[in-house]
Amino acid sequence: MSIIPRLIADARKIVIKFGSNTLADGEGRINAPLLAEFAEQAGALIKEGKQIVVVSSGAQVAGLSAMDKWARKKDLHYRQALCAVGQVKLMDAWERAFAPQGIHIAQILLTRDDFGDNTRTLNMRNTLFTLVDEGIVPVINENDTVSVEEIKIGDNDTLAAQSAILWSADLLILFSDIDGLYDKNPKEDPGAQLAGEVQDITAARQQVNTTGTSNFGTGGIVTKLDAAEQAVSYGIPMILAHGGKKRALEALAAGTQLGTAFLVP
Ligand code: ADP
Repeated sequence: MSIIPRLIADARKIVIKFGSNTLADGEGRINAPLLAEFAEQAGALIKEGKQIVVVSSGAQVAGLSAMDKWARKKDLHYRQALCAVGQVKLMDAWERAFAPQGIHIAQILLTRDDFGDNTRTLNMRNTLFTLVDEGIVPVINENDTVSVEEIKIGDNDTLAAQSAILWSADLLILFSDIDGLYDKNPKEDPGAQLAGEVQDITAARQQVNTTGTSNFGTGGIVTKLDAAEQAVSYGIPMILAHGGKKRALEALAAGTQLGTAFLVP
């Protein structure tokens, strides 16, 4: 069995993160069919005895489709208000996706401070365990309404890694809009090579940097490497893969879809 299918087969507790680009359709709305297809695959894994926690971006995307007249408002309070509107739509979309599987979902909104406080951490951990033990799929997002720039976790890759560590997950999967880690930004360089497996993240950072033409550092790939580094340091392997491909979770488990596996040394 190749590495990605083996990681999924061996994991009981899996945190799966969706980026905004993956959740949005071509028109900038939440891609409901994609969510439904994912829920079906997640439901099948849960029936097999696995446990799943979702980390979902997309509040802003969902908010904009409701409040399109706010699209140009850059003011912080409007952006936070937009996320507050969008978070409801986002959770509605997740609820509709999981309902046909007979699975309830639960919303968990977190900030950076929550991870730095022992009492809150313990409460979060206990709530996560309780929900998952009851067969509920928690859907975690950053609490944008209270998170101003200075106190933000800032990106959901880090939030996903911290959630995986908090819940003592066996595996973290980041679903993005690329197949994995390349030596250069694949959107700018069609000749970019995919890394199937990363054993040494520090070395990987250097290899990606040394290509010279890479957009490394400006793309969202940096926070994905940071997330991998955090997760792996707690013994949790991570898979970075394309979440928009057909039945991506099943395809990864079957070894028919490529991705990058960040392995625990
Ligand atoms: P998400 O919304 O899924 O979190 P981001 O847009 O933040 O995704 O980050 C993924 C993007 O990072 C890719 O779409 C790609 O354009 C960019 N990127 C830059 N350098 C690389 C690289 N070396 N390998 C893969 N992706 C890269």
